[in-house]
Order: sequence, then C-alpha cells, then structure tokens
Amino acid sequence: MRKKIVAGNWKMNLDYEEGLTLFSEVVNMVNDEITGQQHVIVCSPFIHLHSLVTLGKASTKLSVGAQNAHQAESGAYTGEISAKMIRSVGAEYVILGHSERRQYFGETNELLAKKVDIALKHALVPIFCIGETLQEREAEIHFDVIKRQLTAGIFHLDASEFAKLVIAYEPVWAIGTGVTASSAQAQEIHIFIRNEIAAKYGQSIADGTTILYGGSCNPKNAAELFGQADIDGGLIGGASLKSRDFVDIARVFN
Ligand code: PEP
Repeated sequence: MRKKIVAGNWKMNLDYEEGLTLFSEVVNMVNDEITGQQHVIVCSPFIHLHSLVTLGKASTKLSVGAQNAHQAESGAYTGEISAKMIRSVGAEYVILGHSERRQYFGETNELLAKKVDIALKHALVPIFCIGETLQEREAEIHFDVIKRQLTAGIFHLDASEFAKLVIAYEPVWAIGTGVTASSAQAQEIHIFIRNEIAAKYGQSIADGTTILYGGSCNPKNAAELFGQADIDGGLIGGASLKSRDFVDIARVFN
C-alpha cells in the first residue's frame, strides 16, 4: 500500500522559539495519538530545521523538511540554501514548486526540474507541487496545465528516481483562501495525475506514488478529502500552525 502522509508547510511564519514550541506540541501529540501507518512531516523555515530534527529524532512517525532549495550544488548565490546543506542537518524532505514560489519568485517547470535533480542527488525527497490557477480552471485548461507541470518538472526522471517522489496537487485558488476543492474535484485531478504517471512509468509505479491534496484543508474537511481513492494525504498550510488542528488532520488515517 502506498504511504499516507500529512505534511505541514509553515511558510514564512514563526520565529525560532515559536517554531520550537509548536513542534514540541506536535511531537507529543503525534507520539500519543497517531496509531496508524501514516507519516507526519513538518516543513519549516530553514532556521528551525536543525533543532526540529533534534527534537523529533526519537519519533519514527515524524520527519522534517524544508520549503525550497537552490538548484546549484554550491557557489556564489548569496542568501540561498543548497540541498546538500538541508540534508546535512538531517531534514529528509523538501517542498519544490509550491505555487507561491512559482508566482512570487518566477520558478518555472524547467528550473524546478533542476531542483528536483539536486534534491534527489542529496537524498532529499521532493514534495513536488502542481496545480492550476483560477483563470486556468475557468478557461478549462487545468488538465493541460497539470500535464505540462508533470512533463516538464518531473517526467525526465528515470523510474527508480521517480518512485522516490511525493506529489502534491494544490489548486492555486484553494491555497490560503478558505475555499477547498470539493472531494470530487480533487479526486478527478488525482486520478488524472495517477493515469499520467501510469502512462509514463507503468501502473505499478503509479499505484505506489503518494499524491497529496493541498488547499484550505482543515480538521473538518480532511476525512472527506482523504477518503477519496487517489488522495493519499495532505499538504497543510494555515492549519499546520495550530498543533491541535494539524494532528487532528493527521489522525484521519488512524
Ligand atoms: C499550502 O501552502 O501548501 C497550503 C495548502 O496552504 P493552506 O492549507 O493554508 O491553503
């Protein structure tokens, strides 16, 4: 059975102490309350990573990830952080291609393909985000947009590398807006993504790929969304900033 994952994306929130406090609460709740096979991931700002890895070390149910990495190995890129640096502090995951990175930092599918390569090279698991904007959905080109994001962003990988990825479908119109895709809308895209993977890599890899949903997911709507056949968990923004809400979402898989 493919892995079920609930991953939090703190974005640019929480100072150092606030982050440690929130994460400590999450660790305790995860240890006490998570009884299934699901995995919980917290993707924090860079400044927290090392400390969170240390705090979460004892828990096999919990991992830590970053929210971005530079595409180069190292060099004169002032202010940037490399995949190797992230891995060196013990983080295991990295979000790549989040719509906020695409929108505000001009990250293209072609650039993201390079980021995916360097992340895998340094044994980080990319949580690769795809999703259409409202305009693209209204223009009824959302399937084309998603196909292009898959093809240009990750379909250059060979099968063994591809099998390491986690994919997150995040309709841009649902991120941070309080508007959630209906479970039927989300499932329709998730099965489309899985079918595209099957066409490229075969059914067995497609069946093993974890595909998360992201976009205003909360403790009230998570069970309905995660109950869909092709939705394997969630990438959680706002609700991951409250330990109770975040762990309640993860508990859906108990
Ligand atoms: C996200 O940032 O990936 C996200 C899904 O945010 P939110 O849950 O706040 O919509």
